[in-house]
Amino acid sequence: MSEVPAVKSMDAIMALCKRRGFVYQASDIYGGINGFWDYGPLGAQLKKNLRDAWWQDMILNPAWGRTGPNGERVRCVPLETCIIQHPKVWEASGHVGGFNDPMVDDKETKQRFRADHLQGAFPRADAAFADIPLCTVVASTSGEAVTQLLEDRRLQKQLGLRGVERAEVPADLPSPPGADALLMVDAGRARALCWVRAVPMPALRADPAKIPSPFTGKAGSLTEPRQFNLMFFTYTGAVFNEDSKVYLRPETAQGVFIHFKNVVDSSRVKIPFGIGNTGRSFRNEVTPRNFTFRSREFEQAELEFFCHPDESRDWYIFWRDFRMAWWKAIGLAGENLILREHEQDELSHYSQGTSDVEYRFPFTAPGFGELEGIAHRGCYDLTQHQTHSKVKLDYFDTTRGEVLPNGGRKGERYIPHCIEPAAGLDRGALALICEGYTVDPARPSPEFLRLHPRIAPIKAAVFPLVDKDGMPEVAEKLADTLFRRFGHTGFIETDAKQSIGKRYARMDEAGCPYCFTVDGDTLKDQTVTVRERDTGQQQRLGLDAVPGWLGERLSR
Ligand code: ATP
Repeated sequence: MSEVPAVKSMDAIMALCKRRGFVYQASDIYGGINGFWDYGPLGAQLKKNLRDAWWQDMILNPAWGRTGPNGERVRCVPLETCIIQHPKVWEASGHVGGFNDPMVDDKETKQRFRADHLQGAFPRADAAFADIPLCTVVASTSGEAVTQLLEDRRLQKQLGLRGVERAEVPADLPSPPGADALLMVDAGRARALCWVRAVPMPALRADPAKIPSPFTGKAGSLTEPRQFNLMFFTYTGAVFNEDSKVYLRPETAQGVFIHFKNVVDSSRVKIPFGIGNTGRSFRNEVTPRNFTFRSREFEQAELEFFCHPDESRDWYIFWRDFRMAWWKAIGLAGENLILREHEQDELSHYSQGTSDVEYRFPFTAPGFGELEGIAHRGCYDLTQHQTHSKVKLDYFDTTRGEVLPNGGRKGERYIPHCIEPAAGLDRGALALICEGYTVDPARPSPEFLRLHPRIAPIKAAVFPLVDKDGMPEVAEKLADTLFRRFGHTGFIETDAKQSIGKRYARMDEAGCPYCFTVDGDTLKDQTVTVRERDTGQQQRLGLDAVPGWLGERLSR
C-alpha cells in the first residue's frame, strides 16, 4: 500500500472559510440547516470565477480552441433552464418510478442511509471514529469472514468491491468495539479505510433482521433496503394534490435533452455540437456530510455533447482528457487528482464508457472523491424523451449518406449519441480551497491559500506603505486603474491601515496572488513593489507596467 500523505485539517479549512467569508452554514443564526451552505463575499466571487472559467472554456471557447476528433473547432452553445419542469421529464429520465437508490432505515436511531454506499458494507456513524468509517460487512460466507473478504475475489465482486487490502493499525488508534480488522476497501466510487465487522452470510440469508445496525451494533433494528426518492417536491398552483406535484430538479442535464430539438431548430448548430447548462440542483441526500461535498442544494455545470454514434467513442475520450487537463490548469495539479475509468461491470447498460475526475479531499484521503463524471450516455436520454413525449428527437444529418450525382449527400437520420461531462461547482470550489490551503508557521500568515490567479476572488491589492506623504493618493490612482481593467474578474483591494506585514498576511489568507506597494521611492522614480503570494518574493515594477504585468498573469 502506498504511503499515506499528510492530511490537511478539515476543521482548520472550515474555520478559515468562515473567518474570511468563503462559506457559511446556511441559516447560521438559527443553528444552521443540515446539508445547506451559503457562500460569503469571497466564496461567492470564487465560485463565480470558477463558473465563468467553465463557461469560457466549455461554451465560448470550448476546449481552449482545440480541434476535436473530426478535425474541426469544437462548437458549443449555452442554455438556461428551470429548476421545475413537467413531472414527466423525471419519469422519462428514470428519476421517478425507475431506478432510485435503495435505502435502509435504522428504526431505533431513525438514521437512514444508502444501501449501496460502500456497496455491501454499511458505513457506521460513530463520532469517536469520525475520520475512519466503521463498516459492517453484511455478507460473508464463513466464520473467517475477514480472511475470506481479503482473498476471495468472487466474494469481493459480489459485494461490489474492487479490492480489499489489510491496513496497518496505527499504534494510537483504539479499535472500536466489535471491529475485526482495519481494511482499505476500494468500492469503486470511493476508497476508504474501514473498520470491518464481518457477519456470516447464512445469517443474512436466513433472516435479514439479524444484520447488526451500523449505528448501534445491535441486530433487529434495520429495515429491508427500500426505494427512497432523493428528489424534493412541491406543488404548483392553489390546489395541493398528486396532480399538482412537481419536483425540484436533481440534475441540470435533463433541461438540455428536452430542448435538443428547439436548439437545433432555432440556432445554426450542426452535429457534432454541445449544449451547456449551469445551475442549482437539489437532492434530499440521506446523509449530507463533509462540508459542501455532499449538500442538499448544489450547483452543477454540465455539458451534453451530441455526435454521430460512430464518432462517440472518440468524443468521449476527447472530453474525458480535456476535463482532466482543465482541472489541472486551474490549480488542481499533482498527485491529488486522478482520472478513474469505470470498469465494464460498473457501467450503466447504455454506457460505453464513464470516468470520474477524482480529488483527494482531506476527508477522503488516502482515497479520492468524485469531482466530475464524464459519461458516454449513448442515445439513452433522447430516446427516453422521444418515447415519453412522443416528439421526434432524431437528427437529419445532411453531411452523411450516399453521394448524389450533384455532389451533395443523401443525408442520414439518427438519434445522436451524447457525451456528458458533469461537474459540481461546489465540489470544485471546495477542492480548490483544500488544494490551496497551506500551513507555513514561518510566514506572517501561518495559514494561506494558494489559489490560481484566475480563480482567486481578490485579484490584487494596492497598499500605500504609510498613510501619508502622498502615498495614499498614488495607491488610490493605481487601484482605480486596476479596477477599471480587472474589476469584472474579481476584487481589487486597497487598505492603508496596520503594518504592511499584517496587510500582506491578510491578503495571503484570502488567496490574493499579488500585492502592489507604493512607498517613498514611488514618488521619486514611479516604481512600486510587487509581492507574490506563493513565494513572498518582491521586485520593483514601473507604475505604468503594472496593468500589463498583472493582466498577463491573470490570464494564464
Ligand atoms: P455521488 O456518487 O458522489 O453521489 P453522483 O455520481 O451521483 O455523485 P452526478 O449525478 O454524476 O453525481 O453529478 C455530477 C456532479 O455533481 C458530481 O460529480 C458532483 O460534483 C456534483 N454533485 C452530485 N451530488 C452532489 C451533492 N449532493 N452535493 C454537492 N455536489 C454534488
